[in-house]
Amino acid sequence: MAIVFVATRWPPVHASRAIKQGLPMNYQLIPKELRPIAEKVEAQQRISEADALTLYATNDLNALGIIANVVRERKNRNYATYIHNRYINYSNVCILSCQFCAFAAKKRDAHAFEYAIDEIVQAVTDALPLGVTEVHMVGGLHPTLKKEWYLDLLKRLRALDPQLHIKAFTAIEVRHLAQRIFKMPIRDTLEILREAGLGSITGGGAEVFDPIVRDQICRGKETAAEWLDVHRTWHSMGGRSTCTMLYGHIETLAHRADHLRQLRQLQDETGGFTGFVPFAFEPTQSHRMLADIKRASAFEQLRNLAVSRIYLDNIDHLTAYWVSLGLPLAQVSLSYGVDDLHGTILEEKIFHMAGATTPQQQTIAALEHAIREAGRDPVQRDSHYRHISAGSPISGQTTPGQAELACA
Ligand code: SF4
Repeated sequence: MAIVFVATRWPPVHASRAIKQGLPMNYQLIPKELRPIAEKVEAQQRISEADALTLYATNDLNALGIIANVVRERKNRNYATYIHNRYINYSNVCILSCQFCAFAAKKRDAHAFEYAIDEIVQAVTDALPLGVTEVHMVGGLHPTLKKEWYLDLLKRLRALDPQLHIKAFTAIEVRHLAQRIFKMPIRDTLEILREAGLGSITGGGAEVFDPIVRDQICRGKETAAEWLDVHRTWHSMGGRSTCTMLYGHIETLAHRADHLRQLRQLQDETGGFTGFVPFAFEPTQSHRMLADIKRASAFEQLRNLAVSRIYLDNIDHLTAYWVSLGLPLAQVSLSYGVDDLHGTILEEKIFHMAGATTPQQQTIAALEHAIREAGRDPVQRDSHYRHISAGSPISGQTTPGQAELACA
């Protein structure tokens, strides 16, 4: 698979005005209470957590979109990206039972699954001719898989194609491996995984950082400090990662703002986050205590994306996870701060086991069409959001992949 990093045509003809002066803020369309925040954004000043709450409290979605769009355009011009990737959920067997999770199983459960290394290697082998640039792999906190299993899996995937980026394991999986399986410090565990082929760690498992919320939706899971520390360690080793937020369950808007604050703070420290990927909670009857929660509305999802774009001034990219939003809403989100539609994805399991009714894959043609129709320039990206010219996936081709995942 030949991948060439290219200097993309810069600036795009229609973006030249934005480059000279930035997108102008149309203050006539911004209500009085949001103008001081809009002025800060236009002046490239950082907004506060209180400002984020003011933004979360507004129902003026158009105004939020205008402000978020200024940040998006400043950071990403008119480009909107997608990745050509293959998701693998190697097993849903997990020692935890997070209250929001419909994916995990105990070994005895009928819906428990566990793929053999040969099966995973075959799935990725089948995906490579389609031009995928990344395999994205997460699973439950498996009680019995051995250290050698994980290392062998990474080495065999690496051997398939040295250029294939292996993005794998959430921070909680890394802690699980370090403490229970490898019995090594986090840094040493990450080092050994990297030597075997790990390219980057995933952003899942962050949920909402507040400890009281965590105790109710994912009791026993790592704390915010522990999640952040895994990413801090990975970044200090020169690694990059994404970050996430699972919202729309029992958290308050203040909890969301606090979550964003902690992400921004770590990013100030390390600069290692490439993109932010918020997910709305997918309600299902199987969640028991969370069963009565209504799915976040389209309005709420767009508002959350826009506020995130405005607040996270030090994270360059904002991804709309179409598996959760649906492609039509993800397309609309390109006008609310989003500059990335994630990936082509096949056989998504985590959200669909929770009841998501979106498709399990998209074609490159569908993603590019959605981006173009929204007035943006589609560009394929790599795992670190860098523009690439691959040699070259054919538009319209379906990519195997499963989804970025909130699990674990
Ligand atoms: S969210 Fe992750 S850690 Fe929690 S039960 Fe599901 S698979 Fe296990």
